[in-house]
Amino acid sequence: MSNIKLSHPDIGNDEINEVVNVLSSGQLSLGPKIEEFETLFSNYCGTKYAIACNSGTSALHLVAESLGINGGEIITTPFSFIASSNCAIYVNARPKFVDIDPLTWNIDHNRIEENITSETKAILPVHVFGPICDIADIRKTANSYALPIIEDSCEALGSSVDGMMAGSFGDAGVFGFYPNKQITTGEGGMVVTDRDDIAEKCRSLRNQGRGSSTWLSHSDIGYNYRMPDINAAIGIEQLKRINTFISKRKEIVDHYKKILRDNDSIEFQFYDAKCSVSWFAFVIKLHDSFDVTVRNGILEYLKKNGIGCNNYFAPLHLQKCYEFLGYKPGDFPVCENISDRTITLPLHTKMSLNDVEIVCEYLIEALSLA
Ligand SMILES: *Cc1c(COP(=O)(O)O)cnc(C)c1O
Repeated sequence: MSNIKLSHPDIGNDEINEVVNVLSSGQLSLGPKIEEFETLFSNYCGTKYAIACNSGTSALHLVAESLGINGGEIITTPFSFIASSNCAIYVNARPKFVDIDPLTWNIDHNRIEENITSETKAILPVHVFGPICDIADIRKTANSYALPIIEDSCEALGSSVDGMMAGSFGDAGVFGFYPNKQITTGEGGMVVTDRDDIAEKCRSLRNQGRGSSTWLSHSDIGYNYRMPDINAAIGIEQLKRINTFISKRKEIVDHYKKILRDNDSIEFQFYDAKCSVSWFAFVIKLHDSFDVTVRNGILEYLKKNGIGCNNYFAPLHLQKCYEFLGYKPGDFPVCENISDRTITLPLHTKMSLNDVEIVCEYLIEALSLA
């Protein structure tokens, strides 16, 4: 029986010491650590602004609202974590799902244009698992219809194309720092943007709609989406170590691929060779000859043997909470086909290459029993 977790945060002495320093300082929120984290972060992403908040979900909400969206439709992918489409609901808009590409598993840019109507308010692509989606083509389409792009980069911190960082392609980019992400703050999120208006609005909305005015005057109905200084202190130390995290994760993914690449039952996510990937998750897809029952059996087998695993992602359009939107099985066949066959394998900086080999042994054994 092994014990290899699906994900695990990498917290060192510097994170611990800096948290203690903030606790000792007496300034637990609205202190200097937020600004320091934001400056480091915007420099890293190559954007003019970074606005820290308390989750990736709230970052998405801030961006959608700062674009002035209230009603209409937001075009997005059904193959993602639910936060990416929930932000449409928060601003009274309908998530207008568009099927994904069978190879990249990201939104199929060729199908976006036919889904644009007079109701469309934004395009919200996701870089699922880390590889950057066809962002240049999406930008062309968005520009020709004067639509903003909300770039959900929550899974792609540190990924780049031609030196351009994930998060810097959209009108705004969004990140989350839950403990399974490339860097963590416990909970936390970030908006990055070059647009003055978005930055200003996000800053105001995260802080009770205060704008730049005094403490008890509110220009907008805002939220308390502030990131505490305690969490920002963790984020600063994590961001200093990001290159090590990214290369360690890449080493693990490369090792998985080396072992599994000749296995006819297993397919990998495809991405453009120009993309330098920061991996959030390592997800394999079983060959189409395997069905969802077999896949679920393999997940059970792995779990029984102490291997952390999951089925990222179940189709968003078929979630119970979205019944009112009226989507039905078969609406997005590519997404549904892939969702039935994915297996997310352990990926974090605390695991060894030997752990990768153990995971693969159990996986191959499970496949032979299937
Ligand atoms: C993690 C994630 C988010 C944000 O999640 P939070 O838990 O709110 O930080 C948003 N979108 C995607 C695609 C994600 O993977």
